[in-house]
Amino acid sequence: MNHDDISSDSPVDDLEFGDILQRAYRHVLSWRQSVTDRPVFPVVTSNELRDLLTDGSPPEAGTDAISTLDILARAGELGSTASAGPRYFGYVIGSSLPVAVGADWLVTAWDQNATLYSCGPAVSVIEEVCADWLVKMLGLPPHTSAGFTTGTQMAAFTCLAAARHHLLARQGWDAEADGLWGAPRIPVIAGEQRHASIDRALRYLGMGTRVHDVGCDANGAIDLSALRAELDRVDRPPIVCVQAGNINTGAVDPLREVCELTHDRGGWVHVDGAIGLWALASDKYRHLFDGAHLADSWTTDAHKWLNVPFDCGIAFVAHPDAHRAAVGVTAAYLEASAHRDQINTVPDWSRRARSVPVYAVLRTLGRAGIARLIDRNVEHAHRIAAHLAAELGIEIVNEVVLNQVLVRFTAPGHDDDELTREVIARVQDDGTCWLSGSVFDNRVVMRISICSAYTTAEDIRRSADAIIRCGRDAMARRARTTGTG
Ligand SMILES: *Cc1c(COP(=O)(O)O)cnc(C)c1O
Repeated sequence: MNHDDISSDSPVDDLEFGDILQRAYRHVLSWRQSVTDRPVFPVVTSNELRDLLTDGSPPEAGTDAISTLDILARAGELGSTASAGPRYFGYVIGSSLPVAVGADWLVTAWDQNATLYSCGPAVSVIEEVCADWLVKMLGLPPHTSAGFTTGTQMAAFTCLAAARHHLLARQGWDAEADGLWGAPRIPVIAGEQRHASIDRALRYLGMGTRVHDVGCDANGAIDLSALRAELDRVDRPPIVCVQAGNINTGAVDPLREVCELTHDRGGWVHVDGAIGLWALASDKYRHLFDGAHLADSWTTDAHKWLNVPFDCGIAFVAHPDAHRAAVGVTAAYLEASAHRDQINTVPDWSRRARSVPVYAVLRTLGRAGIARLIDRNVEHAHRIAAHLAAELGIEIVNEVVLNQVLVRFTAPGHDDDELTREVIARVQDDGTCWLSGSVFDNRVVMRISICSAYTTAEDIRRSADAIIRCGRDAMARRARTTGTG
């Protein structure tokens, strides 16, 4: 085979690049323009999606790229939730701002391996700037190091690995070299309403999930006297895991007191701020986080309230040496670098430059713009709670402090868990908005989480009306079937 044959045989035609990206751009635009008005959850079956995507056998001969994009766009159009739209209140899922989507396209097109400075100086410096801005904007200690992970799950892994290193090193144990075989046990104390990703991170780290549970107050914030009792019970410096934004209620644990009590015992405080940490940017809500800067590590999700596309979580560690010792790398082929090599901040080796959309949002909105996004969403949460609470048979279960609202439907003589579940299903089918159920204080609740920069007061009104309508329908059906009014 001569060289001409090889080049004419290339599977890649550079001339196609413009056409393909134009096509993708058209699909993207039509999707994003539809997210405001489409049913928030798609009406399609998984079989319909499968039939569209495959006839059951892997492709033998290839097909043209444009038709491949068209098929993907069709599947996405039919089977994606409008979580980028203004009335998606499910789980805790943010939208993505246009500048963040645009920046994410650059990340894809640059195709840099965000692992070493020498793999791409630009993304290394963007990440460095981003980390610096965030530490200052959130008011964390100036020496805090940061790593950009897939989400808070891996950010928690990173932070707890640093905690493990730090506490064991001070007891003369080298966890990195010797593992945990025979190591002193690190007691882990955590609020009983912690997110399950904490336990999962502990599992990955070989620390086990036998956590000392601490009870919570009525709104899901850690109870300080219960924490004191647990701290008195443990015989070594513990890791204490608290949260800034309870997954159900949005409650923020009393961070200053927790840090003071824990540090008195030589322990490490980790703050799960997946939802709430961004409110540190708000003059109005910063006071809820009093003492946050005293903790030893923090996590947050940019793909939630900062409204960047998936995936992006952030680990912050106030002990940069422990951070690096826990997840950093020393390998023969990695020469000592004077630059910020991202590999030393996260568990990943190769990865995409996921800090770039974060930079884009920070620069475009500024601290003040992020504060407006937070303040507006919290206002929306209060507004929808007030609107719903005015309806007979609807109870707001939590004290609304951030963006989370828990709703329960009640009717005398009926099982309120079942009623609430039915209303959730009706709202999901109705398509005006989408939200999920949860269990709080052993009771089924509807959970409304408001994270999107696009949500307006009108969206809140429409959604509240739809929820009320579904509630009335569910109650009317019950009244009919049991013959009671
Ligand atoms: C979402 C969430 C997590 C997990 O974060 P991922 O980004 O999904 O990994 C952890 N803690 C809390 C409080 C959360 O809301």
